[in-house]
Amino acid sequence: MSGIVIIGAGQAAASLAEKLRALKYEGAVTIIGEEPVPPYERPPLSKAYLLGEMEKERLFLRPEAIYADRNIALRLGAPVTSIDTAAKTVTVEGEVMPYDQLALTTGSTPITLPAGIGGDLDGVHTVRSLSDIDAIQSRFQPGARVLVVGGGYIGLEAAAVAAKLGLKVTLVEMAERILGRVAAPETADVIRHEHQDHGVDLLEGVGLEKLTGDGSVTGAVLTDGQEIEIDFVIVGIGIRPNTKLAESANIQCDNGIAVDDMGRTSAPDVWAAGDCASFPYRGGRLRLESVQNAIDQAEAVAANMLGADEPYVPYPWFWSDQYDLKLQIAGLKTGYDRIVTRGAAPSVSHWYFKDNRFVAVDAINAARDYMVGKRLLEAGKTVDPAVIADPATNLKELLR
Ligand SMILES: Cc1cc2nc3c(=O)[nH]c(=O)nc-3n(C[C@H](O)[C@H](O)[C@H](O)COP(=O)(O)OP(=O)(O)OC[C@H]3O[C@@H](n4cnc5c(N)ncnc54)[C@H](O)[C@@H]3O)c2cc1C
Repeated sequence: MSGIVIIGAGQAAASLAEKLRALKYEGAVTIIGEEPVPPYERPPLSKAYLLGEMEKERLFLRPEAIYADRNIALRLGAPVTSIDTAAKTVTVEGEVMPYDQLALTTGSTPITLPAGIGGDLDGVHTVRSLSDIDAIQSRFQPGARVLVVGGGYIGLEAAAVAAKLGLKVTLVEMAERILGRVAAPETADVIRHEHQDHGVDLLEGVGLEKLTGDGSVTGAVLTDGQEIEIDFVIVGIGIRPNTKLAESANIQCDNGIAVDDMGRTSAPDVWAAGDCASFPYRGGRLRLESVQNAIDQAEAVAANMLGADEPYVPYPWFWSDQYDLKLQIAGLKTGYDRIVTRGAAPSVSHWYFKDNRFVAVDAINAARDYMVGKRLLEAGKTVDPAVIADPATNLKELLR
């Protein structure tokens, strides 16, 4: 039995397998994942699930029985250790399995702190998998002192949960401001204020010098010289695409497993999608770390495996929940030269333009602005910045 083998049992794998069945592919489909659980959603791991407001069962993308109903074999708790692209086989738990076509949806791994600065002490955690959360949840007790390293989405969401649960939270961001890589200063300002209102000690332009403790972490020295006492640490300093398996099979990688616009890698009949894959975009390469990209790219790969021959076109969108703020982002703001604001916090949207062309929107508690911006981008339409800036503009009219 060969058929289609998918490595990595995450968001992209589940979408890819289901799309194959939706497109009436009748051959064997096998998903192999190293985690011991069926594919699940990661976003709630730093939001409702961490807060204790979501049952574990609700994280799973589908009940396990659905995979069997759709004749999708799930092999879990089983890391794939090598790929032989000439023989068209993968090795899993010592067993060699053949494939006709192979998809790599291996996701990414959080960057950790080096042992030299205390990254190996007990009580230093990352937030990526269900087992990571199950290991830290009991530490989220009122009064506990947590240091969050990194002011990106993961760090900020974890800080929000901790503050809501009554922990004493210090967050350090080495760059001059939080969300430097992903949001405009105006959006970061709203989020910073919300954290400060909830008592988070949010330090920007301050890094971690080292963690201290004898076996378990008990303190931290910051780059501004402050020494603080802490009970545990959450590290949110970014992720790296999981490319090792591909690299050792001599599959080309470039900030992720390099695919063409169909999702094909450099090896015959091997495809990739999701966090692990970088694809051609506007003359360069882009790798996105979001649920929507994992789903859309995986579905495009499924169709192309069956001969659709349709390039993948990303319509990036992302969301983040912190306290009562719902941030929704559509588009890519790289290289923007102008921002136009509508409304005022706590319900505000920032519209990004490049050469007068609308490229992205950040909406905070402004679902309608987000929806209109997203639909304009999907339709390839632009809009005059002055029209957006005019409070009298009825946004929905722009969609006609
Ligand atoms: C805490 C958190 C919050 C997030 N919040 C948001 C959000 O609000 N909005 C948003 O859009 N995105 C969010 N994301 C990002 C989003 O979850 C990811 O972009 C998405 O899960 C990527 O899907 P994927 O299938 O590419 O990778 P994953 O879901 O990571 O799945 C990859 C799987 O492959 C497995 N694997 C790797 N190597 C092997 C191997 N050799 N053999 C077998 N299995 C292997 C991994 O163990 C993993 O289970 C969040 C992520 C995290 C961690």
